[in-house]
Amino acid sequence: MTEEKRIALVTGANQGIGLQIVKELAAQGLTVFLGSRDLSKGKAAVEGLAGDVYPIQLDVTDQTSINAAAAQIEHEVGRLDILVNNAAISRAGGMPNETMHDYIERSRASLIPVDEVRAVWETNVFGLIAVTQAFVPLLRRSDAGRIVNMSSGLGSLMVNSAPHPHRATFNPGYGASKTAVNAITLAFAIDLEADGIKVNAVTPGFTKTALNNYEGSETVEQGAAEAVRVALLGPEGATGTFTQSPGEPFPW
Ligand code: NAP
Repeated sequence: MTEEKRIALVTGANQGIGLQIVKELAAQGLTVFLGSRDLSKGKAAVEGLAGDVYPIQLDVTDQTSINAAAAQIEHEVGRLDILVNNAAISRAGGMPNETMHDYIERSRASLIPVDEVRAVWETNVFGLIAVTQAFVPLLRRSDAGRIVNMSSGLGSLMVNSAPHPHRATFNPGYGASKTAVNAITLAFAIDLEADGIKVNAVTPGFTKTALNNYEGSETVEQGAAEAVRVALLGPEGATGTFTQSPGEPFPW
């Protein structure tokens, strides 16, 4: 690793959109830490990837794991230029092969177990805050710190307050957790503006990944595009935005 190259960390990057973001940042010549809660999955994901990519164990719900990852990156490269908060779950307990239809029906506001809401928010909201706080000191050492939060159009209060065909997907678990991600993005953007650290939220679109039982319509390349664009924003770039590809504002 060389210290002159920009250094990025992508959480939850052993599969899906996160893995694609890693590939694209590495292709742009960055040094990329590929975060994975299961290090063996991270190592497997790195195999065969081109560029400067290193697996790192990082479970966003485990403060010890977060602290260890921050200490490892500090020890190995001394700073962080780009943090992509990508890790998320749509439902608790895995539930492989559950169709979107079944998920939407059982996750309605009147039905979703509070424990499931807590589990989803633990990863998507509190995990994101904990990871960001742990890496702010390393981002402050960058002359161009960037934080990208993977949000979702499903979290948009503006979109979901008007009738539309997929409105039932907005629930207190995943949907509302992404509304919270938007609010937290703004809070960090305000706090870190004086440090020159740009903090933005993006929505990837409905992307074919494990998160939605591979029922999405977009490719991971399409899903990663806006996060990569915002991760590489120059000094003229905005902070405190919520956008979709290609750089279009998305309603909060
Ligand atoms: P995915 O393929 O299911 O990937 C999610 C990743 O997060 C996996 O690597 C998963 O690890 C990881 N993860 C889950 N819990 C974690 C934890 N506690 N600590 C660390 N990593 C954890 O889903 P995706 O579609 O690529 O999602 C990427 C991001 O895009 C998420 O923020 C998601 O909300 C957002 N998004 C996706 C869509 C879509 O249509 N796919 C739409 C809007 C927003 P494991 O492999 O170990 O489970």
